[in-house]
Amino acid sequence: MTPSVDDVAELEPFREGVFDLDPFGLRGVRCAVGHYTFPVRTFCGTCKSELVEPVPLSGGGVLHTFTVVRQAPPGVSVPYLLGYVDLPEGCRLMARIEPRPGVEPAIGAPVDLVPAIFSDGGSSADRLGFAFAIRNEHPDPKERHDA
Ligand SMILES: [Zn+2]
Repeated sequence: MTPSVDDVAELEPFREGVFDLDPFGLRGVRCAVGHYTFPVRTFCGTCKSELVEPVPLSGGGVLHTFTVVRQAPPGVSVPYLLGYVDLPEGCRLMARIEPRPGVEPAIGAPVDLVPAIFSDGGSSADRLGFAFAIRNEHPDPKERHDA
């Protein structure tokens, strides 16, 4: 289940500067030409220009491709989905993909950025990260009442 931002606000991020909490969103940079780069860098990932400014990135995208991870270090629960997500800004990034019960993950599926807890089962502290949840294109009316 996807945790809410309130549930995870006390966790340390897995890496500083990758996302903001309020509102929850990824950070990137945009160069003078208009290329976007994720994560934040001191130069453009496309044209290498050092004239970049920090920008918030879209909270959703499209699942480019994915795989099912069935082996992981001790303490990490498997299986889980890992995929590449294309943001509207043109960035492609790798992230966990949160399945939606009753919906088969598919290439081209719309996904939404969500907070995620990165856990190794307790040998070190849980960390806050991000994932993408497969969007429910046809929400169950009962689910809407809970939201
Ligand atoms: Zn550029």
